Amino acid sequence: QRNLEKVRRDFVANVSHELRSPLTSLVGFIETLLSGDVHDDATRSKFLKIMDEEAKRMNRLIDDILSLSRVETEEHISPTTRISIIEPIVSVIAALEERGLNKKNKVIFNDKRFNKDNSPLIIGNFDEINQVFMNLIENAIKYGFEDTDVDVQLLQLKNNELNVQIINKGEGIPKKYIERLTERFFRVDKARSSKIGGTGLGLAIVKHILIRHRASLRIKSEINKKTTFSIKFPLA
Ligand code: ADP
Repeated sequence: QRNLEKVRRDFVANVSHELRSPLTSLVGFIETLLSGDVHDDATRSKFLKIMDEEAKRMNRLIDDILSLSRVETEEHISPTTRISIIEPIVSVIAALEERGLNKKNKVIFNDKRFNKDNSPLIIGNFDEINQVFMNLIENAIKYGFEDTDVDVQLLQLKNNELNVQIINKGEGIPKKYIERLTERFFRVDKARSSKIGGTGLGLAIVKHILIRHRASLRIKSEINKKTTFSIKFPLA
């Protein structure tokens, strides 16, 4: 109980801290603009652009905090519907393409054995599984070297399990950090994560969704080579 309370206290402190930094920056720019000291349009529009980014960052953070809190409260309720595993993968890739995120790093999913009609099925919640793939594939793009592919692979295992792997080439993750990656707000390089729009909550959300689906996550990474996020789902 005491431990739980500490986790909760730390979380509130972390959230306040994470919200305060974009807010401080916003207030600073608003005050400068209000003071009337900025006379040229170029500087004004530069300030507005930064303010827009900071406001969006706060928005993303609040979205992620709400997602996390929702999946945490539902963690003990098992999903009941059968869903295809291919559908969320295909839908995430299409959404990334639409957002123009699938350019410098191409996401490749061309498994010859499986398609929409013979997709392996799992018991799951479509939106949550969609979010798992969105977070993992987005990370693979964000933290991958430019102009390298992100591979998504499916493997049906003998013991009625399905293995989905998301593989990218990049700087990788030092071994000592791997087990901390799913902690809330943990980032290997905080400045880099913030710069590319990260909140530090993506993998914590993934972890809780996977617990609810009785699935497991393994992370393997070779520095400057490849990083693999591998999920094992029980098959329906
Ligand atoms: P963020 O919003 O910072 O991306 P996540 O919870 O999604 O937060 O990820 C936590 C951290 O894990 C990231 O800040 C990054 O340091 C590391 N990480 C996640 N995916 C990868 C990857 N594919 N390659 C290298 N590092 C990664």
